[in-house]
This record gives sequence, C-alpha cells and structure tokens, in this order.
Amino acid sequence: MIPFNKIYYKNEKLKYIEDVLTKGKISGDNKYTKKCHDFIGKQFCTQKALLTASCSLALDMSSILLNLKEDDEVIMPSFNFVSTANSVALRGAKPIFAEVKEDTLNIDPEDIKRKITKKTKAIFPVHYAGVSCDMDEIMSIARNNGLMVVEDSAQGVNAKYKGKYLGTIGDFGTYSFHETKNYSCGEGGAILINHDSDLVERAEIIREKGTNRSKFLRGEVDKYTWVEIGSSYLMSDVLAAILYSQFENLDKIQKERERVYNMYMDGLGNLEKLGEIKLPVIPEYCESNYHIFRIMLNSLQERNYLLDELKKRNINAAFHYIPLHSSPMGKRLGYKKGDLPLTENISDLILRLPIYPDLGNEQIDYIISSIYDILKK
Ligand SMILES: *Cc1c(COP(=O)(O)O)cnc(C)c1O
Repeated sequence: MIPFNKIYYKNEKLKYIEDVLTKGKISGDNKYTKKCHDFIGKQFCTQKALLTASCSLALDMSSILLNLKEDDEVIMPSFNFVSTANSVALRGAKPIFAEVKEDTLNIDPEDIKRKITKKTKAIFPVHYAGVSCDMDEIMSIARNNGLMVVEDSAQGVNAKYKGKYLGTIGDFGTYSFHETKNYSCGEGGAILINHDSDLVERAEIIREKGTNRSKFLRGEVDKYTWVEIGSSYLMSDVLAAILYSQFENLDKIQKERERVYNMYMDGLGNLEKLGEIKLPVIPEYCESNYHIFRIMLNSLQERNYLLDELKKRNINAAFHYIPLHSSPMGKRLGYKKGDLPLTENISDLILRLPIYPDLGNEQIDYIISSIYDILKK
C-alpha cells in the first residue's frame, strides 16, 4: 500500500531524544525548545516565536491575544480545517466564512471586503497547500479597516510570499508540526508574534497558564503569579528535540517534496490538455513548500470513482474539506448549503495524491500510470 503521508525519519534524531531523557529536563521551554525558538526566529525572520502543543492551540492563543468576545466577527475561508473557526468560536465570537479563489483555493480578498461589518475584528487567512494568500491585498484591507491579521500558516512552514516567509507577515502567524505536516514532531505548533513587542509579553503569560513565570525564569521578577487568563500551551522538550532534528533537514525535506510535485506536474500534464483534470498553480509571487499535491476532476462522480479505483490499486489518495459553513456546526451558526457555491464545488472535485520525501520515482510513475489507466486515456 502506498500511504497518503509518511514522516521523514532518520536515526540521527534519536541522539537528541536520548540527550533530553538522560538530562531529565523533559517539560517545555528547555534546551531544544530554546533551540527551536532561535531557529524559527533566525531562519524565518520574526521577532518572537513560541512553540505550542499544536497549531490549534497557537490559534486559540491568538484569539485570546486579540481579546475576541461575543458579537465580534472574524473573516476566514470556509474551505478550511476546523481550528481557525474553533479558536474564534471558543471566545464566543463568530466565524464569518468567505469564498476562496479558484486558482489557489485561498481566501478571496474581494469577498473579504464584502463581508466586513462594524463587528469585524480580524481576518484569518489560511495558506492552503503551502501556497500564499494575496498578503499585500489582505494586509491593506486590514489596515484600512483597523483589523488584525492572523495567518494560519499550519501548512505554510518554509514557504514564501514575495520573499517573506509565511507566518511572518500578519500580526500573528501560526505553524503546525502535526504528523501530517512537512516538518513534524507528532503533535506540535508555534505562534509567531511579528510586529508588536507589547504582545510578546502577553503571549508568554497566556502560554504559561496566565502567569508571569517566563519573566521569573529570566530573573526579571522575584516570584511569579496569576496575571490574566491562560492555559498550558507549551510543547514537551522531548517533542522539541524531534522537531529540531527536522529543522536540521529543512531544505532536504522540501527538495524531496518538490521532486514529487514536479513529477506529478510533468506526468499528468497530458490529462490536463485533454480536459480530464485540472492541475494546481503556484502564482509567480509564491515560493511553495509543496505541502499538498491536488488535482480537480470534472464531477463529484468522477472524483469518487478515481479515489475508489486508486484504493483498489493500493494507492491512498484523499479529499478534503467538508466546507465549514455546510458542516453541522456551521449550520448551528446559521449557515446553509448554497451560501458559498464555489467552495462547495471545489470540495466536490478535489483529490489529493500522496506526497512525502520517501515517495520513490517508481511509486510516483505507478500512481501516474494508474490515473491514466483509470481515466482510460
Ligand atoms: C493541520 C492544520 C491545523 C491544525 O494543526 P494542529 O497542529 O493539528 O492543531 C490548522 N489549520 C490548518 C489549515 C491545518 O492544515
């Protein structure tokens, strides 16, 4: 069976795990967490990065930092994973779902403009597949309307928009290091605080159970105490050790994913010419990290047929998302099917192929020829 996803694993990371375990400092904010913080700060150019136990929790922290409350509105795509919407709903605020653009499947700035009201507090763009949203336009809409921007860059680690790393452009950025992402330690994430240094101190407090323990550990106060709401958002240093070894292979992992992506593009080009499928596009201003390889079929029926037939040939393909506005929770928020037709159509037609560093050229050839065979071309 060719799996849909497989982690990049080489033995060298065991020495870091052994180091953590023998020293016994396995809670958060120890040696490898600090190494990861330094790495993210320097490599991706941001003033402050803090590891969290997941990207979902980094988004939850962002919504606390924004002081979201009941009746506030936050604009985000409906073609999206649940975490951005949850982080807003957990504060009692309302996710406002916008359409995506057909080429990148990223949020449409024109629809953002249409959805701004007096209640709007923030925009949460999501960089789908490691391909950037139109950040210049989104930042200018935000600044003109006094809105904050949180980039859900769960899929965008090490990808760029006009030379800037994703996650470092908005007020906050969030990363995921979940098993399924490009750089992984099982479960993990980070929040990046990019511009406002006052927010750095608040972020440290919220992440340390609402206390000023970080200041205490630096010797800046002589005891620590409860200062505001927060929770325990830290990542164990055991996981940070794994993550650090992934960072050491940052470019290698990306290069291998690029190889897979390009082989699919070359191999499936004829099917696009025949009008059977649509291939993804990476706009000129983006440098992708090749997180996802997806194609579009011509109908829901064809998509499901291809998915089933690939499974019979031991190839695990996948699709996502059920649009958030048409989910059971979306319906409880007052949305209904038909509200965002383009998003619903994309969700019906999309199919994702396996992509990971260890996927061999022969396996890729087999996947490509299977697709031709199934579509009988
Ligand atoms: C994976 C993902 C998340 C959640 O990441 P976790 O680290 O699993 O919490 C959030 N948003 C998007 C767009 C994702 O792809």
